[in-house]
Amino acid sequence: MSVLTNLVSALSSGSIEVVDLTAPLSNETPILELPPEFGQTARFELQEISRYDDRGPAWYWNNFRTGEHTGTHFDAPNHWVTGKDKADIGSVPVAAFVAPAVVLDVTKQVEEDPDFLIEVDHVRAFEEEHGPLPENGWLLCRTGWSARTTQADMINNTETGPTSPGMSAECARWVAEQSPLQGIGVETVGTDAGAAHSFDPAFPCHAFLMGNDKYGLAQLQNLDKLPPTGAVVIASPLKIVGGSGSPVRVIALVER
Ligand code: MN
Repeated sequence: MSVLTNLVSALSSGSIEVVDLTAPLSNETPILELPPEFGQTARFELQEISRYDDRGPAWYWNNFRTGEHTGTHFDAPNHWVTGKDKADIGSVPVAAFVAPAVVLDVTKQVEEDPDFLIEVDHVRAFEEEHGPLPENGWLLCRTGWSARTTQADMINNTETGPTSPGMSAECARWVAEQSPLQGIGVETVGTDAGAAHSFDPAFPCHAFLMGNDKYGLAQLQNLDKLPPTGAVVIASPLKIVGGSGSPVRVIALVER
C-alpha cells in the first residue's frame, strides 16, 4: 500500500489520532497587551450579516474582525524588523505547514516559577533523552500555561509587568542559528516570555527566529496530549497577502 493509503487507514482505525492544539476563537480569547504607547492588536469579533431573517432568509453568516496575532496563530518572518525583507504569511512555503514536532515539558518548573525560561541546557538534556531535534520541525514548549483561559490569568500582570514563561535570549539565538528547527510553539499569547521586553535583545524569540526565516506558533493547547517525539503538526495559516501572521487551526497527528 502507498504511504497515503496507510495514513488514511490508520486515521480511520484510530491508530493515528488527530489532536486539536487550537484555542477557541471568540471575543473572550486572550490577546497580547503592549504598553499603551504602542498600537494594540484587536480582539476577535463576529459581526452578524444575517441569520435566517430579513437580511437573508435562508442563510446565516458573519463578517469577522481580528488581529493577525489573536488566539492560536502563526508568526511569519516579516512580523519582526529583523525579518522585514523575509517571507510574509502568504509567502511561507506550504511545506512548513506539515512538520514533525517534539514537546519539551517544563510544566513542573513553571509551577514553581511563572517566569521560568527554557535554556539551551534544557534542550540539550531533551536531546540526550529523546534524540536529535527534527529537521525543519517544531519545538513545542509545554508549560501548562494553556490552563489560563482568561485575559488576566494569561497575561498574569505582577509588579514587574506581564509574568509568563518563555525562552532565554541565548536559547532563542541557539534555536534560530544552530538548531535544525523551523520554529517554536508556545502556550502563551506570543512566543516570548512575559518579561522579554527587558531582555537583551528585547523579545529575543521574535528577533532571532524571524531574523533567521523561522516561524512561531502561539497560544497552543493540549500539548499534554502529545508524545515527546513523533507527532506531526499541521498548521496552515490564511494566505493573507503581505500579512505578518494569521490565526490558524493547529492539529497534530499522533500514533496511538
Ligand atoms: Mn504573534
